Amino acid sequence: MTSAAGRGYHARSRVLVTGGAGFLGSHLCEKLLEAGADVICLDNFFTGTKDNIRHLLDHSSFELLRHDVTFPLYVEVDQIFNLACPASPVHYQSDPVQTTKTSVHGAINMLGLAKRLRCRILQASTSEVYGDPELHPQPESYWGRVNPIGPRSCYDEGKRCAETLFFDYHRQHALPIKVARIFNTYGPRMHPSDGRVVSNFVVQALRGKPLTLFGDGSQTRSFCYVDDLIDGLLRLMRSDDTFVGPVNIGNPGEFTVRELAELVIELTGSSSQIEYHPLPQDDPTQRQPNIELAEQALDWRPRVELREGLSRTIEYFDQLLGQGDE
Ligand code: NAD
Ligand code: UDP
Repeated sequence: MTSAAGRGYHARSRVLVTGGAGFLGSHLCEKLLEAGADVICLDNFFTGTKDNIRHLLDHSSFELLRHDVTFPLYVEVDQIFNLACPASPVHYQSDPVQTTKTSVHGAINMLGLAKRLRCRILQASTSEVYGDPELHPQPESYWGRVNPIGPRSCYDEGKRCAETLFFDYHRQHALPIKVARIFNTYGPRMHPSDGRVVSNFVVQALRGKPLTLFGDGSQTRSFCYVDDLIDGLLRLMRSDDTFVGPVNIGNPGEFTVRELAELVIELTGSSSQIEYHPLPQDDPTQRQPNIELAEQALDWRPRVELREGLSRTIEYFDQLLGQGDE
């Protein structure tokens, strides 16, 4: 197996991170460099930005590659983290055909690369594979309830098909795969106009603008702080070859979106009001990970409570908006 599978990374272990200039990808690149890996960060800058990785550009073990995963790639690496894909509903719905291509063609290209190199490959899958779930909280054994033809389908079905491809490459080609199902993750380096709920509310509150609450705000999400999530992905990548997932990585602390809005207003000390907007089609009514598998197999559990993680995120956006950097 690859030399990069241990706790730290051996010198010269080369790790490819697709979507490396995005929110999660940039944190992952940072942690991999800290662990001693050589990192190739691949991105087409659809939602990611150079600002997220600017502090890494001078690092001797960091390399940036502008590339679109829907096209084949030939590099020599020891591990692949496949994160390339817009994650915010606003962005993945803005070019839905490209979103499906990114998930499906991107998975085929990266799996093909991994097969040629015989290296480990981890897929950033999502809680969206469960759709609008009837089972609560969601265990990995649940097959989900996804609308195949709605506005979210380009993302949900693209990610489901990517999981299928990962498991077929595993069964058919004995490829060492890892599949993480990521639940709503937030933190510094989300783009201020990313469109996801945490960044929207924090930016709106800091600007004294109304918080745009969709529906009556009774829908729930379970929010995971970025550092916890990255720790989970790294543990999964270095787990035993026999453990492939899928495994839920998320924080089981469940909140209504209205509770989130109220907490953001409290923590920012903002005078913003809540403004109600129509609920988008197919918006899941509840979401909470069952993380027993991650606890058992990876000895992983989240550490950062929402209040603490939100405070760190607010601090980040406060500084960013103060610089007029939007
Ligand atoms: P993000 O939008 O910040 O990052 C995605 C990155 O992928 C961006 O840098 C973007 O430019 C890049 N990208 C998009 N299409 C590409 C393409 N065709 N070729 C190359 N690069 C491309 O989102 P994120 O929150 O960092 O999400 C990273 C991954 O984790 C995604 O695959 C997402 O589906 C998954 N995920 C994230 C969450 C979350 O809450 N953050 C939840 C579930 C799953
Ligand atoms: N949401 C909201 N206001 C916003 C953005 C999102 O009320 O400005 C709601 C959205 O309808 C959903 C939840 O917050 O119920 C989470 O949305 P997000 O886009 O962050 O991610 P999702 O989990 O839906 O993919």
